[in-house]
Amino acid sequence: MRTVYLDNNATTRPAPEVVEAMRPYFEELWGNPSSMHTFGGQVAKPVAEAREQVAGFINAERAEEILFNGCATEGDNHALFGVAAAWGKPGTIITSRVEHPAVLGPCLRLREMGHTVVEIGVDGEGRFDMEAYEAALAANPGPKLVSVMWANNETGVLFPIKEIAEKGKAAGATVHTDAVQAAGKVPLDVREVPVDLLTIAGHKMHAPKGIGMLYIRRGTRIKPFVIGGHQERGRRGGTENVPYIIGLAKACELSAAAFTDGSHERMARLRDKLEAGLLATCPDSRVNGDRANRVVNTLNISFEFIEGESVLYHLSDLGICASSGSACAAGSLEPSHVIRAMGVPFTAVHGSIRFSLSRYTTEEEIDYVLAHCPEVVAEMRAISPFVKH
Ligand code: PLP
Repeated sequence: MRTVYLDNNATTRPAPEVVEAMRPYFEELWGNPSSMHTFGGQVAKPVAEAREQVAGFINAERAEEILFNGCATEGDNHALFGVAAAWGKPGTIITSRVEHPAVLGPCLRLREMGHTVVEIGVDGEGRFDMEAYEAALAANPGPKLVSVMWANNETGVLFPIKEIAEKGKAAGATVHTDAVQAAGKVPLDVREVPVDLLTIAGHKMHAPKGIGMLYIRRGTRIKPFVIGGHQERGRRGGTENVPYIIGLAKACELSAAAFTDGSHERMARLRDKLEAGLLATCPDSRVNGDRANRVVNTLNISFEFIEGESVLYHLSDLGICASSGSACAAGSLEPSHVIRAMGVPFTAVHGSIRFSLSRYTTEEEIDYVLAHCPEVVAEMRAISPFVKH
């Protein structure tokens, strides 16, 4: 059976060039970059070059501001717990209601530890409530950390991160952004957008799973999160994952090139074709999220009166991979916290599906989905107890 992979916000195919770039670091150059001997030492230079490459990808001033780690969850945890630990006293974390659990989970724990956590809401289109944010900055005079995502993983909605960072900095806060879903989809520039900390994950941008990066602007007060050896300038213990670091750097190089070779325009056109086609052929469907302000690869669409999960199962039988906004928790289908925070009507909340494209997505794949998805939706509607038959 064919596979039409439209779940790229969950994970992406490692680019063949990335796999090729990594190969020598499994087969020949498998030493430890911290070793005194030449065999290990010879991989220290490629790691340093990879650090330069990744720094260039986000326009960081110095390569030392790049910390390689295991995943975005680790980067987010490091940013949140590391900054709070450096305060040495209770402070305030200002975040949004639609963050990934990699941010919301640590926030819960920080609240238990005595810190104040303020969650900023969004409107019906998933847009950040700037007024509530400004009020939260003004109402909390002590040490502050802002942690707000650049792009939402479920809807693709882009937050005005430059304005959020500037306002946070002006109020004396340390500012972190989870840029996992923005990386490779919009240019990231930490000179233009004054965040102190920024998280990315390799596997969302055609590098493998198990490699991430936390940008730490020079001068940011932050404690280590993974404590151990002297690696990463004492900020993250653990022997460097050399092949994966090389893979991440290659993925950054390819992602940067994709901004100018027409890949983005093509992805946007295919996403828009999918969106227009589904809206036209599936009655009672609606797009979730600000259509004017989204990353180019994401479509979150609700088919009213049916369960997203059952649509997904049927799509999966046809080889179409997408995901839903619901998480199956304790035997009940809990609608996504993101879709709920947007106040999407009850009839549509459960029927939300996320299609996320990549630069490898083809027109033929989109046509295949357009040929089959409307039938699946119609079949589900025919047996839905919420539809008057
Ligand atoms: N942050 C966002 C916005 C994400 O979409 C994800 C993964 O979906 C993560 C963090 C966590 O990434 P990982 O599972 O690679 O740690």
